[in-house]
Amino acid sequence: MEPSEGSTLLDSVVITLWGCLIVAGVTLEVIRGWQKLHLFREQRQSLRSWGAPTRLGRERLRVQRGNVAAATHCDSKYDIGICADKSTGGKNMTLSRRRAVLGATLLGGALFGSRMLPDSADAQPASARLTTILDGGFSVSVASTAANRDPNQIRELLQSAGHPTDLASTVLNVSLIRRGSDVILFDCGAGKNFVPGTGKLVDGLTAAGVEPEDVTHVVFTHAHPDHLWGALDEFDTPAFPKASYHVSAAEWDDWFATDIYQRLPEDRHSFAAGAQRILKVLEPVTKRFKPGSEPVPGVLAVAAPGHTAGHFAFEVMADGGPTLIGGDAMTHPVISFLRPDWAGGFDSDPAQAAITRKALLDRAATDRLRLVGYHLPNGGAGYVERRGAAYRFVQG
Ligand SMILES: [Zn+2]
Repeated sequence: MEPSEGSTLLDSVVITLWGCLIVAGVTLEVIRGWQKLHLFREQRQSLRSWGAPTRLGRERLRVQRGNVAAATHCDSKYDIGICADKSTGGKNMTLSRRRAVLGATLLGGALFGSRMLPDSADAQPASARLTTILDGGFSVSVASTAANRDPNQIRELLQSAGHPTDLASTVLNVSLIRRGSDVILFDCGAGKNFVPGTGKLVDGLTAAGVEPEDVTHVVFTHAHPDHLWGALDEFDTPAFPKASYHVSAAEWDDWFATDIYQRLPEDRHSFAAGAQRILKVLEPVTKRFKPGSEPVPGVLAVAAPGHTAGHFAFEVMADGGPTLIGGDAMTHPVISFLRPDWAGGFDSDPAQAAITRKALLDRAATDRLRLVGYHLPNGGAGYVERRGAAYRFVQG
């Protein structure tokens, strides 16, 4: 049967339409391919501008990761963060770790696409600003500044440094770090129920432009009253309601140990009762950290036992330099530095506290870390200088 003229025309139209669709499809694929190629070039350029691992960079990253592994598996009896790998001489563990983390993030970006990369330089890790907020202060007797020492021996030492030899006073410096959206407190002050003259932290924070609900993290060096009791407000609820709280697992376990009251002298039983009560209230919002971990990203937990069983210091980059939040490892601006072997009045394990103190002082002096001491004067920040076999605290 001969096809009609109408059906021939219809076939031509259908064939033409199919042809157009095929051409359009091919064109679309070509455009998509070009876009992918362009995106790949952009990613590569972006990664280069961030120093992402090139062949050489990947090798460096591998070495840095090795450093982190070595640093967290040292054989020192006490892990105080100074027994890092041999390849760096035990120095700059934190910096190596931070670079490795940043490198790993960038490597992740290379593998999984440009969405993991920051859009601009503004998204780089924010610089941290450190301020110390005074919770208050009080006077103590000279004899209590060093345990088991003749008060005359203490006075002689103080006199040799030109320091007052009668009543000693102490202050409570809460470190505040502001870094991007993070508002981090190290300890909480004594609150209003410990001794008169303390409990001024919230007023000090307000004066610095920080309201209690702005605080995102609270990190404890230890759970003595002058560091912990300010964690609850007058209604016995967390004083910083939107914060997560962080305490070392060793500190937590020690205060809740069944023999804690047998081990403590009777005049310090209130320390245990207070720690247990306050930590229990905080428990739902508290995380427990281990040595070498980062309770908050960029804040390295350095085990510093002796003052208490789970006392910790913290290394953090602040104001453009490495900083050591020392807690109560050094409690007196003269005695702790000239005689680091002398026990402080409240060290629970004097021998261990002396080992920790000397190691931290050595580290701070060698690596030029800025030290912030909770009980050191005038804001507590300064540097450690060697002075023969001893040390000197230089405010700054
Ligand atoms: Zn203290």
